[in-house]
Amino acid sequence: MSAEHERNIETLIRAVVRDFRETARTTGIAVADPELIDALRRVPRDKFVPDSGSGHAWDNRALPIGHGQTISQPFVVALMTQLLELQPGHRVLEIGTGSGYQAAILAELAEEVYSIEVVPELAAAASARLDRLGYRNVQVRTGNGRDGWPEAAPFDAVIVTAGADSIPKALVEQLRTGGRLVIPVDTGWGQDLRVCVKEEDGSLRERSVLPVIFVPLVGGR
Ligand code: SAH
Repeated sequence: MSAEHERNIETLIRAVVRDFRETARTTGIAVADPELIDALRRVPRDKFVPDSGSGHAWDNRALPIGHGQTISQPFVVALMTQLLELQPGHRVLEIGTGSGYQAAILAELAEEVYSIEVVPELAAAASARLDRLGYRNVQVRTGNGRDGWPEAAPFDAVIVTAGADSIPKALVEQLRTGGRLVIPVDTGWGQDLRVCVKEEDGSLRERSVLPVIFVPLVGGR
């Protein structure tokens, strides 16, 4: 790894750590998990952005990936990941594969990652990219993520990386009791990142974490 590359990564880590500190009052999380920081160091974000954006690959911001979609801001990826409270044995469902970057971070921390992307070209590109980078524990498929991935359920954690008008029912059904769901939900004036825990009776205990901006979750009924 070149010295410049290492500097870029450490600059990004500092920016992410600062964002955790500055949002702690609403997120309830002041400090990023060391395992998560290690995952951010290991996943080569420059391999997940198109050449046109490669000069900014290590900036702490969202970048365009084509098809009107974006790779999320690293701090938001990190925050959502930490909110899932992943354990090494966990099986995770992601809706909105996009570039595959978030899926790679999840794959570093969990056992199995299932990721659904509605744009076929993005799904194919992300799948090939994750393969090339050696992520054998991620499966990507094209489809409407609102339906979840019933054959692979139940999941210990579900993460939605597009803004939803409401929480899709199938995703709650496919979450195990005690499992966590992290999702940006439309509020009418923006989006609110929510972390939800599935209770014994099947209902969700929800907490608002932070105002966020995501591309919309399409294919609503
Ligand atoms: N997690 C991605 C960024 C997500 S951008 C990354 O790390 O790069 C949101 C993605 O959700 C887009 O690629 C968009 O095409 C996808 N998307 C939107 N609605 C969807 C749906 N109903 N099902 C699956 N994917 C959807």
